Amino acid sequence: MKPPAFSYHAPDTVSETLRLLSELGGQAKILAGGQSLIPLLNMRLASPRHLVDLRRITELDTVTVDASGVGVGAMARHARVERDAATAHAVPLLPTALRLVAHSVIRNRGTVVGSLAHADPSAELTAVLALLDGTVTVADSSTQRTVSARDFFVGPLESCLRPTELAVRAHFPRLPRGSGTAIREVARRSGDYALCGAAAAVTLDSDRRIRSAWLAYLSLAPVPLVVDVTPAVAGSDAHGADWDAAVHIAHGWWEPEADIHATAAYRGHLAAVLTRRTLCEAAAAALADSGGAADSIAATDSAVTSASPVASQQPASSRPSGKGNPDA
Ligand SMILES: Cc1cc2nc3c(=O)[nH]c(=O)nc-3n(C[C@H](O)[C@H](O)[C@H](O)COP(=O)(O)OP(=O)(O)OC[C@H]3O[C@@H](n4cnc5c(N)ncnc54)[C@H](O)[C@@H]3O)c2cc1C
Repeated sequence: MKPPAFSYHAPDTVSETLRLLSELGGQAKILAGGQSLIPLLNMRLASPRHLVDLRRITELDTVTVDASGVGVGAMARHARVERDAATAHAVPLLPTALRLVAHSVIRNRGTVVGSLAHADPSAELTAVLALLDGTVTVADSSTQRTVSARDFFVGPLESCLRPTELAVRAHFPRLPRGSGTAIREVARRSGDYALCGAAAAVTLDSDRRIRSAWLAYLSLAPVPLVVDVTPAVAGSDAHGADWDAAVHIAHGWWEPEADIHATAAYRGHLAAVLTRRTLCEAAAAALADSGGAADSIAATDSAVTSASPVASQQPASSRPSGKGNPDA
């Protein structure tokens, strides 16, 4: 199918883009990598009168790493971030999650910020941003604001972005020393959107006991769902934590739905398995990050096949917090 007719604009700078968006009112859509928008246009699920293509704006093609974490500009493509060594060192969950996004051809075109703006609750990066309590900086022709992940995602395929706003960059915070992360998902075929997925972050204290444990889920709620399971495992040895108690807490937050790919019950089953596995892996990575032995932590099941490696975190300051936590 072909898209509906539209006028095409390709500005060279951010300020030109913001002026254009303002002039076009709510009639324009931003085109970044096009990997989600173009299929939507071809299926006539969207029919904007104007497309504003960001591809010429080199000032948006940035990846910056500092003590606070990783900043990703709006035109940094998945593949660039996935292969960036400094990013892998600072926020290892980011490249680990990116390897689960679609296929390399799509990652060569799609952008990290475009994926966040698309706000698909089945996307890996929305869950990663939510788990790490990251932010998105958005601007229009007169103002700029920084929005936390918990406020950015409003509903399925719906962010808080206004029609005249551009998401300029996203920030993925580093976790403190002694932290580890992991992400796993189950998809029918490699590269497909996940039937269900979970990402976990575990932080240990100076005695290598669990200080905090958080999860973010994909394909389990209308927005990326973040759950604090710290009360179930705080103070435990990372080797002997009661992960089933963590599953019990998390279970109360899940809203699995049935569709043509999976029943709600099957999604719930996957969520339980993935919760246990990612928490085990994140705890192992946290132990490694704090200098302890990680090899004796093992998940108690083997039902999940679509796996990704664990990732240890580097020193820093921020903590995951989230909408799933009634106290947050
Ligand atoms: C076959 C296939 C499989 C895929 N599988 C997965 C998967 O498993 N996991 C996954 O997460 N994704 C998957 N994707 C989607 C892919 O990751 C996209 O690249 C991503 O969702 C959107 O990024 P993009 O740069 O292509 O955005 P675009 O398609 O250009 O834009 C998407 C939406 O975001 C808006 N937008 C983009 N950038 C900005 C901005 N800077 N400011 C404001 N609005 C903006 C657009 O207007 C549009 O509404 C898949 C895509 C395909 C085609």
